[in-house]
Amino acid sequence: MSLKGKTAIITGSNSGIGLGVAWELARAGADVVLNSFTDRDEDHAIAAGIATETGGNARYIKADMSKGDECRALVEQAGACDILINNAGIQHVCPIDEFPVDKWDAIIAINMNSSFHTTAAALPMMRKAGWGRVVNIASAHGLTASPYKAAYVAAKHGVVGMTKTVALETAEEPITCNAICPGYVLTPLVEAQIPDTMAKYNMGRDEVIKKVMLERQPSREFATVEQLGGTCVFLCSDAAAQITGTTISVDGGWTAL
Ligand code: NAD
Repeated sequence: MSLKGKTAIITGSNSGIGLGVAWELARAGADVVLNSFTDRDEDHAIAAGIATETGGNARYIKADMSKGDECRALVEQAGACDILINNAGIQHVCPIDEFPVDKWDAIIAINMNSSFHTTAAALPMMRKAGWGRVVNIASAHGLTASPYKAAYVAAKHGVVGMTKTVALETAEEPITCNAICPGYVLTPLVEAQIPDTMAKYNMGRDEVIKKVMLERQPSREFATVEQLGGTCVFLCSDAAAQITGTTISVDGGWTAL
C-alpha cells in the first residue's frame, strides 16, 4: 500500500515511538510532519534525514502539545492532514497522595487533551479530502493500571474513550479512528522511569527491566518503534478501512494476562 500523496502529522516525533512511526509512514510514501516543543537545528535535521533517505517530503514544526492553541496551530500550519498520529506523551511515577499537581496537569494536557485539539482541527481537512486516519498512541495503561501512574493511566484511559467516540462520529465517512496500546518499548520515556523504579523497588537496572517492566510483558521482550510504525501503516491501509473505534495491543501479551 502506498501512502503517496497523503500528509501525516505525528505529534511528539523527534524521538522514540513518534520518530519510528514517522520513518515507517515516510517509507510507505507519506509526506511527514514531525513535531515537538523544541526548535533546535537537530529537530529540523531529523526531518531532513528522513526526506533524504526516503526521497519524500518531511518537515518539522515546533508546537507545544500542552497548549491547546498550539495543537490546533500545528495542524493549520501543516496545511493538510490525511493521517494524524497523536503520540506526544510524558510520564511521572509517584504515589497519588504525593503526586505533584503540575505533573498531573501536564500529563493530562499532553497525553490526552492534545488529541482533542489536534483531532478537532484535523477532521474538517480529512472530510474535505474525503479520506482520513486518526491513530492515537495510547498504552497498555489505557486498558489496565499500575501503581504510581495515576495521571498517565487516567489520560490513556481517556484517550481510549475519545478514540471510540471519534470513531462513532465519523463512522459513516471514509475516516477511521483507532488506538494502539503498546506495552514496554525501550525509548527515552521508559529509560527515564528506570532510576525511580530502581529506588522504589530497591533493585538494580537489569532487575527492574526483567522483574518489574518485562514481568508484565509475557514475551519478555520490549516492543520496537518499527513494530509500532508498521501497525500505523497497516491502520492506514485499505485492509483496515473497516477497523475503527478499537484498540490494537502491541504488548507481547501483557493485556492477555
Ligand atoms: P519519548 O520520550 O521518546 O517521546 C515522547 C515524544 O513526545 C518526544 O518526541 C517529546 O519531545 C514529545 N513531547 C513531550 N512533551 C511534548 C510537548 N509538550 N509538546 C510536543 N511534544 C512533546 O517517549 P515514547 O516512549 O516514544 O512515547 C511516545 C508515546 O508512546 C507516548 O504517548 C507514550 O505514552 C506512549 N507509550 C510509550 C510506551 C513505551 O514503553 N515507551 C508504552 C506505551 C505507550
